Amino acid sequence: MTSLPPLREVIARYGLNASKALGQNFLFDGQLLARIAAVPGNLRGEEVLEVGPGPGGLTRALLAAGARVTAIERDRRCIPALAELSEAYPGQLTVIEGDALAVDAPSLFTGRPHIVSNLPYNVGTALLVGWLSGAWEPWWQSCTLMFQKEVAERIVARTNDDHYGRLAVLAQWRSAARIAMPVHRSAFTPPPKVMSAVVHITPLPAPDGVDFSVLERLTGAAFGQRRKMLRQSVKGVAGALEGLEAIGVDTTRRAETLSVEDFVNLARVVGAPKPPSP
Ligand code: SAM
Repeated sequence: MTSLPPLREVIARYGLNASKALGQNFLFDGQLLARIAAVPGNLRGEEVLEVGPGPGGLTRALLAAGARVTAIERDRRCIPALAELSEAYPGQLTVIEGDALAVDAPSLFTGRPHIVSNLPYNVGTALLVGWLSGAWEPWWQSCTLMFQKEVAERIVARTNDDHYGRLAVLAQWRSAARIAMPVHRSAFTPPPKVMSAVVHITPLPAPDGVDFSVLERLTGAAFGQRRKMLRQSVKGVAGALEGLEAIGVDTTRRAETLSVEDFVNLARVVGAPKPPSP
C-alpha cells in the first residue's frame, strides 16, 4: 500500500489556497473519492483522463484503483504536489500543465481512456460539449464527471422536464447519461453554494445520417427561444420548418415538447443532401 501524506497537509505545504477563478473546490474524503473512481467500473490497467487534478485527491483514488492516469492541470502551484504522486505510483501518472480547453486530449492516448474528473465549474460544460462532438464512436470509453447538481440535471433531463434543453439532447442522442450519485456541498473545501452530482455517460451507436453540427444548430435555435413556438424559434435555420413538416411535428409546439428522437429525425432531414433542382 502506497503511503501518502494527508491531502490537507499537501495543500498547506504547497500553499494551495483555493482559487475561485480556477473553480477550485477540493475533495478530501477518501471513501467518497474511491466511490467516484469506482463509477466507470474496474479501472485496473485502464487509461484515464483527469481534468483538474488539483492537489490530487481524485487522482489518488484512480491510481489506487490501478488506472494509468493522464491529468491536465492549469494551476502551476499544483504541479509539485502531483509530481510526488507520480513518484509514489511509478509509471502510472502523467501530468500535463495546461488549459484542458486547449490541449488535444485524444492525441495523449494510445487506447480509449475513461474520462473521470471533478470538473472546474466554469469550463465543465464546454469540455463536455467538446467530448460529445466529433467522430463516433468517440475516443473515450466513458465519462464520469462532477457537475453542479443543476447542470447534472440538465444533462440527464427528459422531454418536458424543467431542465430539458440543448445539453440533454446533445448528451443523449448517441449516449446514455445518468446521475451516478449526488454529492453534498459540504464534501468540498471550500464548500460551493450549491449541491453537486456525478454524471456517468457511455456512448451508444450513433443514429444514421445525423450530423452533430446540424443538431447543435437546431437545438441552439430551438432552445435559445424556448418559450416561443418552433415556427418562430427555428425559422433562421435553413430547411428547419420544412423538416418539421416532413417529420410530422406541428410548428406551433415548443422545443421542450420534442423528444431527443424528434430532434434526431429533424437533424437527419435538415442535413440530408438536397436533390439538384431540375
Ligand atoms: N480534482 C480535485 C479534487 O477533486 O479535489 C480538484 C477539483 S477542482 C473542482 C477543479 C480543478 O481544475 C482545479 O485544480 C483547477 O485548478 C483545475 N482547472 C481549472 N480550469 C482548468 C482548465 N481550463 N484546464 C485544466 N484544469 C483546470
